Formats: sequence, structure tokens, C-alpha cells
Amino acid sequence: MALTDDQLSELRAQLDSERTRIQGNVTDLSEELSTSLSNTTEEHGLETHIGDQGTDTFLRSRDAALEEHEVRLLAEIDAALERLDAGTYGICEVDGTPIDFERLQALPWARTHAEHAEA
Ligand SMILES: [Zn+2]
Repeated sequence: MALTDDQLSELRAQLDSERTRIQGNVTDLSEELSTSLSNTTEEHGLETHIGDQGTDTFLRSRDAALEEHEVRLLAEIDAALERLDAGTYGICEVDGTPIDFERLQALPWARTHAEHAEA
């Protein structure tokens, strides 16, 4: 069953608010990353403290991984919004049939039915 206009606008609103939330997270993480980088340089100068560096590196790579995940999600959300504009939203990329509304509510940027993702 194709999605109604009401369902489409509900999902668009969901995508928009999720986009805003993640955009904020990415900005925070970017700031954190650049702050921790400059702190390391300022605090330690030419001296190297192996222990501190290890922790810094760990935290930085954790933040970087988190940011990468969020950036990827942001791209998925943008792609979903493009499909909404193009009128191809909610169509499974595997079999070309409509994705159920419940799945899209849970995962508005879904490209396929749940069963393909699990397989
Ligand atoms: Zn499918």
C-alpha cells in the first residue's frame, strides 16, 4: 500500500528533526575533536607524555568513530529527503514494492524492507 500524504509529511517531519539533532551532535563532536587536538599541543609542547597521549588518542578515535557514524546517518537522511522530493520515497530498493509505514516510522531513512537488512 502506498503512503498517504499525511504519512509522508509525518515522516518528512521526523527526518527533518532527526537531521537537526544529528547536525548538532556532529558540530559538538567536531569542536571536541579540534579542542582535544589543540589542548594536546598546548599542554605538552615538545614534551611527550606517553600515558596521557594514549588516553587522548583513545578518546579522539572514539569521538572520530562516533562522528563518522553520525555523518553517515546524516547522508542517509539527506538521501531519504531527496527521495521524498523525487517521489520515490518508501519504495524498497531490492524488490521495488512499498515499505510498510511502521518500519519507516521506526527508521525513516530505510531503503529496503526489514527482511533484506536482516538477511
Ligand atoms: Zn523488499
